[in-house]
Amino acid sequence: MHTRPPELTATLQPTAQPTTELDRLGDQIAELSAHLDAATARLLALIREFDDRGGWNTGFRSCAEWLTWRVGLAPGSARERVRVARALGSLPAVTAALERGQLSYAKVRALTRVATPETEARLLAVARAGTAVHVERIVQGWRQIDRQNEARKTARQHAGRSLHIYSDADGTLVLRGRLAPEVGALMLRALDAARETLYQRRRAGTIIPSVIDPTADAPTRPQQQADALALLAEAALRHELDPGSPAERYQVVVHVHAAILADPAQAGESALEDGPRVPAGTSQRLACDASRVVMRHDEDGRVVEVGARTRTIPPALRRALHHRDRSCRFPGCTVRVGEGHHVRHWAQGGPTTLSNLALLCRRHHRSVHEEGYQMERRSDGALQFRRPDGRPLPEVPAPRPLPADPVGALQAEHTAQGFQIHARTGIPGWQGERLDVGWAIDVLHPLATRATVRRAT
Ligand SMILES: [Zn+2]
Ligand SMILES: [Zn+2]
Repeated sequence: MHTRPPELTATLQPTAQPTTELDRLGDQIAELSAHLDAATARLLALIREFDDRGGWNTGFRSCAEWLTWRVGLAPGSARERVRVARALGSLPAVTAALERGQLSYAKVRALTRVATPETEARLLAVARAGTAVHVERIVQGWRQIDRQNEARKTARQHAGRSLHIYSDADGTLVLRGRLAPEVGALMLRALDAARETLYQRRRAGTIIPSVIDPTADAPTRPQQQADALALLAEAALRHELDPGSPAERYQVVVHVHAAILADPAQAGESALEDGPRVPAGTSQRLACDASRVVMRHDEDGRVVEVGARTRTIPPALRRALHHRDRSCRFPGCTVRVGEGHHVRHWAQGGPTTLSNLALLCRRHHRSVHEEGYQMERRSDGALQFRRPDGRPLPEVPAPRPLPADPVGALQAEHTAQGFQIHARTGIPGWQGERLDVGWAIDVLHPLATRATVRRAT
């Protein structure tokens, strides 16, 4: 007689437990999953509103970072939630299907990577009919078509770059051109910086006559742009078109009186090297972790003594600080590169010791020096942050109370909203046919042709 080994029998034979009971268990899983998807739609709508209205902008760098802090999501899934929430803002049909528990969050996540208001209906039909695996494969093929079109568009933009320059009859120079988006962004930033510089020079009364006529009326916006372009040309030629090394480019020299550094209310100078005054908070931040040269002046302002350049935080101490703090210490922040912040500023007599230092990213270093956020080290060594209005900003927020039966509350709410969610709500219409991704995209994607689809899949 032939017998199977007992452990194999156990895995191959259907379980001997009553199937109706297990079916019921399976139905419960399916029904609760649909309820969770419906609740996720509500959650995403709340996240979108919170994001739109900037509710996270209370010391956090993004809505995702706030979610990580407040809700305990991993940073990756927090970013994904925000992305999906934003995308659903322009996809009403997909949103409605998620609200009714007809589409799983996994399918919605995939759809929102490619769907636009124009293609939403077609993709939704695919998602309702197919499984999550089908949707994933269609979306992949779809993206490839999108990428090919994107690449062609970028190439067209690059090829179309131009700058036409000609002299008009009256001798003025006329410019007309077209730049690729990223070059355009660079151009706009440079023009903005130049306009800002001219504006500050005008206030300080140190305008270069060759660039601007100071006796004229306030210039219009196009006139300001023209002035800015002239300054760019001047600056570029003066520096022989040398963009400089990165270190030089980001170096900022601040002249500040010791009294101001210790107490922003004191009178005295706090200015960038080329003129514009900066708030005392900015000087304090820049001095917090910087190279420092101390100069002594006599009564007439003549420099009588110049000390050696020193780092306010020596390299060994900085390494120890990075090792201890690992990332920015602001609640919810995970940025790993940062500046050493003196909890009590060195200009106020705070020592440069590990216990008086905390690692803060650039954004949050600005928060504590210039935006009114406060931080102190408690007697137990922990850092305590406060919002500008004095309310504490805890490292971990207090949990919200839940109803005694959260699942029952969820079901009751969906029933009250008129959504009929049951074990078969999310079941696809798929009958088991083989999926031909190339054919499907060819039929669905507005820009697909047979040839591109074959290449893409
Ligand atoms: Zn600081
Ligand atoms: Zn930070």
